[in-house]
Amino acid sequence: MKVQLLPSSIENGVASQRQRLTTFLLDDLVAIDAGSLPFGCSDAQRQSVRDIVLSHTHLDHIAGLPIFIDDLFATLESPVRVHASRGMIDVLEKSVFNWDVYPRFSDLSNDFGSVLEYVPFEFDTPFSIEHFDITAIEVDHHGPSAGFLIRDGMDAFGFTGDTSATEKFWTTLNDEPRVAAVFVECSFPNRLQALADRSNHLTPERLGVEIGKLHVPTERIFVTNIKASYRDEVISEIAKLRIPNVEIMTIGEVVEL
Ligand SMILES: [Zn+2]
Repeated sequence: MKVQLLPSSIENGVASQRQRLTTFLLDDLVAIDAGSLPFGCSDAQRQSVRDIVLSHTHLDHIAGLPIFIDDLFATLESPVRVHASRGMIDVLEKSVFNWDVYPRFSDLSNDFGSVLEYVPFEFDTPFSIEHFDITAIEVDHHGPSAGFLIRDGMDAFGFTGDTSATEKFWTTLNDEPRVAAVFVECSFPNRLQALADRSNHLTPERLGVEIGKLHVPTERIFVTNIKASYRDEVISEIAKLRIPNVEIMTIGEVVEL
């Protein structure tokens, strides 16, 4: 599987390593979250991505969703499909696509038909998109929030989404015979543990504890979602953990797994 963490912005002509928004692209077909989707994707990816799977509805994960649909509005020959829990869909309809913040795209259509279709998922019930089998696993963040177990027909992958200490995500991965890669959040440095606790995020110290819950053979562990202001500090604290297969996800780079 090809995984790309899209850049939130471009600095001096290259992908900024400061992550302010979240979108992972899988094989240029499926997006996990849409924070940076229309700002960080290529024109080819804008044409190939029609399925967006949401981990939760915080702004840094959905900021690009209205703009992505807006850009494509007249030319979409099939709708953009947003896969989310019913609770997340309710938030989008109530707080984003409500005509005040942005048009209610689910009520609009172009010459070809509807432009936005919601596809609700249930936690712990696998669903399929393209060649992926995806299971949403509830994690510990604010509101309904999902991590994901994703199989591409060959390998299994885990994405935590935003989370604090959590259990079911890891026990679900531990049921796999092996895992090709896990993408784990780590937002704040250790000195901001209280803020991390209040906002349900991980620090490097807690990241070490979480990774200790993974008992299945796992080839690579990528750390993502480091708050832009604390990136260097968080990276240096993660290095001190000395966990051999942990690496920092390079923003913009396509990782072949
Ligand atoms: Zn969040």
